[in-house]
Amino acid sequence: MDKPPADARTTSADNPGTQPRTVTTVLKPQAVLEGAGVRLKRSFPSRELDYLDPFLLLDHFASTRREDYEEGFPMHPHRGIETVTYILAGEVAHKDTLGNSGTIGAGDVQWMTAGRGILHEEMPLFRPEGVDGFQIWVNLPAKQKMTQPRYQDIRAQAIPAVVRADGTKIKIIAGSVDGVSGPINGIAVEPTCLDVLVPPRTTFAHPIPREHNAMAYVFEGEARFGAETRVGALGLAILGDGDHLSVVTGDNPVRFLLLSGKPLGEPVARHGPFVMNTRAEIEETLRDLRRGTFISA
Ligand code: MN
Repeated sequence: MDKPPADARTTSADNPGTQPRTVTTVLKPQAVLEGAGVRLKRSFPSRELDYLDPFLLLDHFASTRREDYEEGFPMHPHRGIETVTYILAGEVAHKDTLGNSGTIGAGDVQWMTAGRGILHEEMPLFRPEGVDGFQIWVNLPAKQKMTQPRYQDIRAQAIPAVVRADGTKIKIIAGSVDGVSGPINGIAVEPTCLDVLVPPRTTFAHPIPREHNAMAYVFEGEARFGAETRVGALGLAILGDGDHLSVVTGDNPVRFLLLSGKPLGEPVARHGPFVMNTRAEIEETLRDLRRGTFISA
């Protein structure tokens, strides 16, 4: 066994690291119409940011107006990626060509590995509270793009929450906090996905592996991220180099999604719901769809 270097240190809530990640960019999500007519807020892809390896898309759908979401996302394909749906309020019904169907409700997560191909529909149901939630696309490494599709459907009660003495509440979808691990497993890019609520006048620190790309999407309140940058809802803070995230609140609380993952460093060829490595693989995907061989086992 190699001896750890003399300056090796473990990180913890008390000792998250020595170099806080500063905010390199704050992106404001843009209104887009997606699916059959769902009004949502897209942080990326956009003109400013195509993707943040290994994350390919971040959408926030939130509305209490039925006409903003009810048309939903009728049957459509995916290949080469993972789609992650995290619901804060309301309910989304889903159904796919593998025979899965059900609903995703408040606090639930669906982590779908599309792999070689899946056709599914995602339909927000009319609810008095409307709908509020996120969809994140995570890239698959080249060697897993044609893997068998896989679902991890996680109910709210199976998502652990750490509540710190200072009142900070962290729901752990993927990754770990204070020794508690989230339920999502077996994902190539070793993602962290946390829903973090920090009360007023509180400091939150969390270690992030140096080699990961990381971002924080603020959807309630505001705080200072990194050394100085104030980020308020709705805003996506792209984080620079460092070994931890530091967040300091003022008079307001803040709630944000913290996402990090190991970059793949592979070429990205994207075409709508398909993300492959080359144009030829996209052409092949479109050919499979035309020939009806997209879903073949
Ligand atoms: Mn989809």
